[in-house]
Amino acid sequence: MPQPEFRSKLPRTGTTIFSVMSALAHAHQAINLSQGFPNYDPPAALRALVAGHLEQGHNQYAPMPGLPGLRQALAEKHAAASNHLLDADTEITITAGATQAIFTAITALVHPGDEVILLEPAYDSYRPAVELCGGVVVAHALRYPDYRVDWAEMASLVNTRTRLIIFNTPHNPTGTIWHRSDWEALEALVADRNIFLLSDEVYEQLVYDGQRHYSLLDFPNLFARGFATFSFGKTFHATGWKVGYALAPAALMEEFRKVHQFNVFSVNTPLQYALADYLQDPATYNYLSSFYQAKRDFFLAQMNGSALRPLPCAGTYFQLFDYSAVSDLPDTAFARWLTTERGVATIPVSAFSSTPTTDWVIRLCFAKTEDLLAAAAERLVKL
Ligand code: PMP
Ligand code: GLN
Repeated sequence: MPQPEFRSKLPRTGTTIFSVMSALAHAHQAINLSQGFPNYDPPAALRALVAGHLEQGHNQYAPMPGLPGLRQALAEKHAAASNHLLDADTEITITAGATQAIFTAITALVHPGDEVILLEPAYDSYRPAVELCGGVVVAHALRYPDYRVDWAEMASLVNTRTRLIIFNTPHNPTGTIWHRSDWEALEALVADRNIFLLSDEVYEQLVYDGQRHYSLLDFPNLFARGFATFSFGKTFHATGWKVGYALAPAALMEEFRKVHQFNVFSVNTPLQYALADYLQDPATYNYLSSFYQAKRDFFLAQMNGSALRPLPCAGTYFQLFDYSAVSDLPDTAFARWLTTERGVATIPVSAFSSTPTTDWVIRLCFAKTEDLLAAAAERLVKL
Protein backbone atom coordinates (compact mmCIF):
# COMPACT_ATOMS: atom_id res chain seq x y z
CA MET A 1 0.00 0.00 0.00
CA PRO A 2 1.44 3.46 -0.83
CA GLN A 3 2.39 5.58 2.15
CA PRO A 4 0.33 8.74 2.75
CA GLU A 5 2.13 11.76 1.39
CA PHE A 6 3.69 13.79 4.16
CA ARG A 7 3.99 17.55 3.93
CA SER A 8 6.11 19.14 6.68
CA LYS A 9 4.61 22.08 8.54
CA LEU A 10 8.15 23.28 9.26
CA PRO A 11 10.06 22.46 6.07
CA ARG A 12 12.97 24.79 6.82
CA THR A 13 13.40 23.83 10.47
CA GLY A 14 16.05 21.35 11.57
CA THR A 15 17.03 20.12 15.03
CA THR A 16 17.62 22.99 17.45
CA ILE A 17 21.24 24.15 17.67
CA PHE A 18 21.22 23.49 21.44
CA SER A 19 20.64 19.75 20.96
CA VAL A 20 23.11 19.63 18.07
CA MET A 21 25.98 21.29 19.95
CA SER A 22 25.37 19.46 23.24
CA ALA A 23 25.38 16.14 21.34
CA LEU A 24 28.61 17.11 19.56
CA ALA A 25 30.17 18.13 22.88
CA HIS A 26 29.18 14.80 24.37
CA ALA A 27 30.48 12.81 21.40
CA HIS A 28 33.88 14.56 21.58
CA GLN A 29 34.03 14.89 25.38
CA ALA A 30 34.36 18.64 24.94
CA ILE A 31 33.73 21.14 27.72
CA ASN A 32 30.16 22.15 27.03
CA LEU A 33 29.69 25.93 27.12
CA SER A 34 27.10 25.72 24.33
CA GLN A 35 23.55 24.99 25.54
CA GLY A 36 22.55 27.32 28.38
CA PHE A 37 22.36 25.31 31.59
CA PRO A 38 24.27 25.35 34.88
CA ASN A 39 26.59 22.48 35.82
CA TYR A 40 25.47 22.85 39.45
CA ASP A 41 22.28 21.93 41.23
CA PRO A 42 19.35 24.03 42.41
CA PRO A 43 19.77 25.20 46.04
CA ALA A 44 19.61 22.39 48.62
CA ALA A 45 16.72 24.07 50.47
CA LEU A 46 14.63 24.09 47.31
CA ARG A 47 15.45 20.46 46.56
CA ALA A 48 14.43 19.55 50.10
CA LEU A 49 11.10 21.34 49.64
CA VAL A 50 10.44 19.38 46.44
CA ALA A 51 11.27 16.10 48.17
CA GLY A 52 8.99 17.06 51.06
CA HIS A 53 6.05 17.81 48.81
CA LEU A 54 6.53 14.56 46.90
CA GLU A 55 6.31 12.70 50.22
CA GLN A 56 3.36 14.77 51.45
CA GLY A 57 1.17 13.48 48.64
CA HIS A 58 1.18 16.50 46.35
CA ASN A 59 1.33 14.30 43.29
CA GLN A 60 -1.95 14.75 41.38
CA TYR A 61 -3.06 17.37 38.86
CA ALA A 62 -2.57 20.97 39.88
CA PRO A 63 -5.32 23.45 38.97
CA MET A 64 -5.19 24.29 35.26
CA PRO A 65 -3.79 27.86 35.64
CA GLY A 66 -1.35 26.80 38.37
CA LEU A 67 -1.33 26.47 42.14
CA PRO A 68 -3.05 29.50 43.77
CA GLY A 69 -0.27 29.81 46.37
CA LEU A 70 2.41 29.99 43.69
CA ARG A 71 0.47 32.55 41.66
CA GLN A 72 -0.01 34.66 44.79
CA ALA A 73 3.71 34.49 45.58
CA LEU A 74 4.47 35.64 42.03
CA ALA A 75 1.99 38.53 42.27
CA GLU A 76 3.86 39.69 45.38
CA LYS A 77 7.27 39.25 43.77
CA HIS A 78 6.32 41.33 40.74
CA ALA A 79 4.55 43.96 42.83
CA ALA A 80 7.80 44.48 44.73
CA ALA A 81 9.84 44.73 41.52
CA SER A 82 7.48 46.72 39.32
CA ASN A 83 4.93 48.42 41.52
CA HIS A 84 2.21 46.68 39.51
CA LEU A 85 -0.19 44.47 41.44
CA LEU A 86 -1.28 41.53 39.30
CA ASP A 87 -4.51 39.67 39.93
CA ALA A 88 -3.23 36.21 40.88
CA ASP A 89 -6.49 34.57 39.75
CA THR A 90 -6.76 36.01 36.29
CA GLU A 91 -3.38 37.40 35.21
CA ILE A 92 -0.84 34.65 36.00
CA THR A 93 -0.55 31.14 34.52
CA ILE A 94 2.08 28.57 35.45
CA THR A 95 3.53 26.85 32.38
CA ALA A 96 5.83 23.98 31.43
CA GLY A 97 8.83 26.27 31.12
CA ALA A 98 8.96 29.57 29.28
CA THR A 99 8.99 27.63 26.01
CA GLN A 100 5.41 26.50 26.51
CA ALA A 101 4.39 29.97 27.69
CA ILE A 102 5.82 31.47 24.50
CA PHE A 103 4.27 28.82 22.27
CA THR A 104 0.89 29.21 23.95
CA ALA A 105 0.90 33.02 23.76
CA ILE A 106 1.79 32.91 20.07
CA THR A 107 -0.87 30.28 19.38
CA ALA A 108 -3.48 32.36 21.19
CA LEU A 109 -2.64 35.54 19.27
CA VAL A 110 -1.52 34.75 15.75
CA HIS A 111 -3.94 34.06 12.88
CA PRO A 112 -2.88 32.85 9.41
CA GLY A 113 -1.40 35.75 7.44
CA ASP A 114 -0.65 37.89 10.51
CA GLU A 115 2.78 39.45 10.48
CA VAL A 116 4.98 38.96 13.54
CA ILE A 117 8.11 41.03 14.07
CA LEU A 118 11.14 39.28 15.60
CA LEU A 119 14.43 40.91 16.53
CA GLU A 120 17.23 38.72 15.19
CA PRO A 121 19.34 37.13 16.53
CA ALA A 122 16.20 35.71 18.16
CA TYR A 123 15.70 32.77 20.51
CA ASP A 124 15.08 29.83 18.25
CA SER A 125 11.61 28.80 19.41
CA TYR A 126 9.82 31.99 18.31
CA ARG A 127 9.86 31.55 14.54
CA PRO A 128 8.61 27.94 14.34
CA ALA A 129 5.77 28.76 16.73
CA VAL A 130 4.69 31.68 14.53
CA GLU A 131 4.97 29.59 11.37
CA LEU A 132 2.89 26.74 12.84
CA CYS A 133 0.10 29.31 13.28
CA GLY A 134 0.38 30.40 9.65
CA GLY A 135 1.94 33.70 10.70
CA VAL A 136 4.53 35.50 8.61
CA VAL A 137 7.80 36.40 10.32
CA VAL A 138 9.24 39.84 9.63
CA ALA A 139 12.77 40.07 11.03
CA HIS A 140 14.54 43.18 12.25
CA ALA A 141 18.32 42.65 12.38
CA LEU A 142 20.14 43.64 15.57
CA ARG A 143 23.58 44.40 14.22
CA TYR A 144 27.06 43.55 15.42
CA PRO A 145 28.74 44.78 17.55
CA ASP A 146 26.23 46.46 19.88
CA TYR A 147 23.06 44.66 18.72
CA ARG A 148 20.69 47.49 19.72
CA VAL A 149 17.23 48.00 18.23
CA ASP A 150 17.06 50.56 15.42
CA TRP A 151 13.65 52.04 16.17
CA ALA A 152 13.43 54.00 12.92
CA GLU A 153 13.96 50.77 11.02
CA MET A 154 11.41 49.01 13.25
CA ALA A 155 8.85 51.68 12.34
CA SER A 156 9.36 50.89 8.67
CA LEU A 157 8.42 47.22 9.31
CA VAL A 158 5.08 47.95 10.96
CA ASN A 159 1.89 47.93 8.87
CA THR A 160 -1.78 47.03 9.24
CA ARG A 161 -1.00 43.29 9.08
CA THR A 162 1.45 43.48 12.02
CA ARG A 163 -0.18 41.56 14.85
CA LEU A 164 2.63 40.88 17.31
CA ILE A 165 6.13 42.00 18.24
CA ILE A 166 8.28 39.45 20.13
CA PHE A 167 11.34 40.66 22.03
CA ASN A 168 13.65 39.48 24.78
CA THR A 169 15.51 41.41 27.47
CA PRO A 170 18.06 40.57 28.87
CA HIS A 171 18.79 39.19 25.44
CA ASN A 172 19.85 35.69 24.50
CA PRO A 173 22.31 35.37 22.76
CA THR A 174 23.84 38.88 22.77
CA GLY A 175 23.70 39.75 26.50
CA THR A 176 22.28 43.22 25.77
CA ILE A 177 19.46 44.71 27.84
CA TRP A 178 16.76 47.18 26.91
CA HIS A 179 17.09 50.65 28.39
CA ARG A 180 14.13 52.79 29.38
CA SER A 181 14.49 54.60 26.04
CA ASP A 182 13.88 51.32 24.17
CA TRP A 183 10.63 50.76 26.05
CA GLU A 184 9.57 54.34 25.38
CA ALA A 185 10.32 53.91 21.69
CA LEU A 186 8.20 50.74 21.68
CA GLU A 187 5.40 52.64 23.40
CA ALA A 188 5.48 55.29 20.66
CA LEU A 189 5.62 52.64 17.93
CA VAL A 190 2.54 50.67 18.99
CA ALA A 191 0.37 53.54 20.29
CA ASP A 192 -2.93 53.63 18.32
CA ARG A 193 -2.00 50.41 16.53
CA ASN A 194 -3.61 47.00 16.76
CA ILE A 195 -0.39 45.26 17.82
CA PHE A 196 0.22 42.83 20.68
CA LEU A 197 3.50 42.23 22.50
CA LEU A 198 5.39 39.23 23.81
CA SER A 199 8.16 40.16 26.20
CA ASP A 200 10.44 37.21 26.99
CA GLU A 201 12.08 38.03 30.33
CA VAL A 202 13.53 34.68 31.40
CA TYR A 203 16.83 36.33 32.43
CA GLU A 204 15.14 39.09 34.49
CA GLN A 205 17.34 38.34 37.54
CA LEU A 206 20.62 38.37 35.59
CA VAL A 207 21.53 42.03 35.02
CA TYR A 208 25.01 43.36 35.76
CA ASP A 209 27.12 46.40 36.62
CA GLY A 210 24.43 48.19 38.62
CA GLN A 211 21.99 48.32 35.72
CA ARG A 212 18.35 47.30 36.18
CA HIS A 213 15.89 45.13 34.35
CA TYR A 214 12.84 46.91 32.99
CA SER A 215 9.84 44.63 32.60
CA LEU A 216 6.72 44.89 30.47
CA LEU A 217 4.99 45.35 33.85
CA ASP A 218 6.82 48.66 34.34
CA PHE A 219 4.89 50.12 31.40
CA PRO A 220 1.13 49.85 32.00
CA ASN A 221 0.27 50.94 28.43
CA LEU A 222 2.40 48.12 27.12
CA PHE A 223 1.32 45.46 29.61
CA ALA A 224 -2.28 46.22 28.55
CA ARG A 225 -1.47 44.64 25.19
CA GLY A 226 0.96 41.91 26.03
CA PHE A 227 2.37 38.81 27.61
CA ALA A 228 5.54 38.55 29.67
CA THR A 229 7.20 35.14 30.08
CA PHE A 230 9.55 33.82 32.78
CA SER A 231 11.41 30.62 33.68
CA PHE A 232 12.15 29.06 37.07
CA GLY A 233 14.73 26.96 35.25
CA LYS A 234 16.91 30.04 34.80
CA THR A 235 16.28 31.56 38.19
CA PHE A 236 16.82 28.48 40.32
CA HIS A 237 19.48 26.55 38.33
CA ALA A 238 16.86 23.98 37.39
CA THR A 239 16.52 24.00 33.60
CA GLY A 240 15.44 20.34 33.69
CA TRP A 241 12.37 21.09 35.78
CA LYS A 242 10.67 22.94 32.93
CA VAL A 243 8.47 25.22 35.04
CA GLY A 244 7.84 28.83 34.09
CA TYR A 245 4.95 31.24 33.85
CA ALA A 246 3.19 33.87 31.79
CA LEU A 247 1.70 37.19 32.87
CA ALA A 248 -0.97 39.07 30.91
CA PRO A 249 -4.05 41.19 31.53
CA ALA A 250 -7.15 39.09 32.25
CA ALA A 251 -8.75 39.30 28.78
CA LEU A 252 -5.57 38.11 27.07
CA MET A 253 -4.91 35.50 29.74
CA GLU A 254 -8.38 34.06 29.17
CA GLU A 255 -7.45 33.35 25.55
CA PHE A 256 -4.04 32.02 26.63
CA ARG A 257 -5.70 29.54 29.00
CA LYS A 258 -8.00 28.28 26.25
CA VAL A 259 -4.87 27.04 24.50
CA HIS A 260 -2.91 26.12 27.64
CA GLN A 261 -5.64 23.75 28.89
CA PHE A 262 -5.28 21.68 25.72
CA ASN A 263 -1.55 21.73 25.11
CA VAL A 264 -0.48 20.90 28.66
CA PHE A 265 -3.52 21.38 30.95
CA SER A 266 -1.48 21.78 34.12
CA VAL A 267 2.10 21.69 35.36
CA ASN A 268 4.14 19.51 37.74
CA THR A 269 2.40 19.73 41.13
CA PRO A 270 5.14 19.08 43.75
CA LEU A 271 7.45 21.59 42.08
CA GLN A 272 4.75 24.23 42.20
CA TYR A 273 4.27 23.68 45.94
CA ALA A 274 8.01 23.86 46.53
CA LEU A 275 8.43 27.01 44.46
CA ALA A 276 5.53 28.70 46.27
CA ASP A 277 7.27 28.06 49.60
CA TYR A 278 10.68 29.04 48.33
CA LEU A 279 9.58 32.35 46.79
CA GLN A 280 8.38 33.61 50.17
CA ASP A 281 11.90 34.88 50.80
CA PRO A 282 13.22 37.32 48.13
CA ALA A 283 16.76 36.49 49.29
CA THR A 284 16.35 33.22 47.35
CA TYR A 285 16.69 35.13 44.07
CA ASN A 286 17.92 38.65 44.87
CA TYR A 287 21.54 37.49 44.99
CA LEU A 288 21.60 36.22 41.42
CA SER A 289 22.96 39.30 39.67
CA SER A 290 26.05 39.39 41.85
CA PHE A 291 26.40 35.59 41.69
CA TYR A 292 26.45 35.59 37.88
CA GLN A 293 28.37 38.84 37.54
CA ALA A 294 31.15 37.20 39.56
CA LYS A 295 31.10 34.24 37.17
CA ARG A 296 31.24 36.52 34.13
CA ASP A 297 34.16 38.45 35.62
CA PHE A 298 35.99 35.28 36.65
CA PHE A 299 35.65 33.86 33.15
CA LEU A 300 36.76 37.11 31.49
CA ALA A 301 39.79 37.29 33.80
CA GLN A 302 40.71 33.70 32.85
CA MET A 303 40.34 34.67 29.18
CA ASN A 304 42.73 37.59 29.56
CA GLY A 305 45.29 37.47 26.78
CA SER A 306 43.09 35.37 24.51
CA ALA A 307 42.75 36.27 20.84
CA LEU A 308 39.00 35.86 21.31
CA ARG A 309 37.64 39.35 21.95
CA PRO A 310 34.74 39.63 24.43
CA LEU A 311 31.77 41.84 23.57
CA PRO A 312 29.97 43.72 26.36
CA CYS A 313 27.64 41.52 28.42
CA ALA A 314 25.03 43.44 30.45
CA GLY A 315 22.81 40.48 31.30
CA THR A 316 21.99 36.74 30.81
CA TYR A 317 24.57 34.04 31.45
CA PHE A 318 26.00 34.24 27.97
CA GLN A 319 29.21 35.91 26.83
CA LEU A 320 29.85 36.65 23.17
CA PHE A 321 33.34 36.50 21.70
CA ASP A 322 34.54 37.86 18.35
CA TYR A 323 36.90 35.21 16.95
CA SER A 324 37.92 37.06 13.76
CA ALA A 325 41.54 37.25 14.96
CA VAL A 326 41.65 33.45 15.14
CA SER A 327 39.82 32.16 12.07
CA ASP A 328 37.87 33.24 9.03
CA LEU A 329 35.67 30.15 9.08
CA PRO A 330 31.92 30.90 9.21
CA ASP A 331 30.66 30.69 12.78
CA THR A 332 28.92 27.29 12.47
CA ALA A 333 32.03 25.67 11.02
CA PHE A 334 34.21 27.41 13.61
CA ALA A 335 32.00 26.22 16.48
CA ARG A 336 32.18 22.64 15.18
CA TRP A 337 35.95 22.87 14.80
CA LEU A 338 36.36 24.31 18.27
CA THR A 339 34.34 21.43 19.71
CA THR A 340 35.96 18.59 17.81
CA GLU A 341 39.55 19.87 17.61
CA ARG A 342 39.97 22.05 20.70
CA GLY A 343 37.46 20.52 23.10
CA VAL A 344 35.22 23.51 23.86
CA ALA A 345 31.59 23.58 22.63
CA THR A 346 29.96 26.95 21.93
CA ILE A 347 26.96 28.25 19.98
CA PRO A 348 27.37 30.02 16.61
CA VAL A 349 25.34 33.23 16.82
CA SER A 350 24.09 32.87 13.23
CA ALA A 351 21.88 30.00 14.45
CA PHE A 352 19.59 32.68 15.88
CA SER A 353 19.12 34.45 12.54
CA SER A 354 17.21 33.63 9.37
CA THR A 355 19.58 35.56 7.13
CA PRO A 356 23.21 34.53 6.82
CA THR A 357 25.52 36.76 8.88
CA THR A 358 29.12 37.53 8.11
CA ASP A 359 30.00 38.17 11.74
CA TRP A 360 32.57 36.02 13.45
CA VAL A 361 30.85 35.65 16.79
CA ILE A 362 30.22 32.70 19.13
CA ARG A 363 28.24 32.47 22.38
CA LEU A 364 29.64 30.86 25.53
CA CYS A 365 27.58 30.00 28.61
CA PHE A 366 29.24 30.98 31.90
CA ALA A 367 26.67 29.35 34.20
CA LYS A 368 29.40 26.92 35.22
CA THR A 369 31.61 26.24 38.20
CA GLU A 370 34.96 28.05 38.27
CA ASP A 371 36.95 24.87 37.66
CA LEU A 372 35.09 24.24 34.40
CA LEU A 373 35.34 27.90 33.30
CA ALA A 374 39.07 27.87 34.05
CA ALA A 375 39.56 24.60 32.16
CA ALA A 376 37.71 25.98 29.12
CA ALA A 377 39.64 29.24 29.24
CA GLU A 378 42.93 27.36 29.40
CA ARG A 379 42.07 25.73 26.06
CA LEU A 380 40.72 28.93 24.52
CA VAL A 381 43.66 31.21 25.34
CA LYS A 382 45.87 28.88 23.31
CA LEU A 383 43.95 29.59 20.08
N1 PMP B 1 13.51 32.25 26.16
C1 PMP B 1 14.83 32.40 26.17
C2 PMP B 1 15.40 33.70 25.71
C3 PMP B 1 15.67 31.38 26.60
O1 PMP B 1 16.99 31.55 26.59
C4 PMP B 1 15.08 30.18 27.02
C5 PMP B 1 15.96 29.03 27.41
N2 PMP B 1 15.96 28.92 28.73
C6 PMP B 1 13.70 30.05 27.03
C7 PMP B 1 12.94 31.10 26.58
C8 PMP B 1 13.01 28.79 27.44
O2 PMP B 1 12.95 28.64 28.82
P1 PMP B 1 12.50 27.25 29.49
O3 PMP B 1 13.69 26.42 29.60
O4 PMP B 1 11.90 27.66 30.81
O5 PMP B 1 11.46 26.66 28.59
N1 GLN C 1 17.89 28.58 26.51
C1 GLN C 1 19.00 27.71 26.38
C2 GLN C 1 20.07 28.35 25.50
O1 GLN C 1 19.86 29.37 24.91
C3 GLN C 1 18.70 26.36 25.81
C4 GLN C 1 17.31 25.88 25.82
C5 GLN C 1 17.18 24.63 25.04
O2 GLN C 1 18.09 23.83 24.98
N2 GLN C 1 16.08 24.49 24.39
O3 GLN C 1 21.11 27.79 25.38
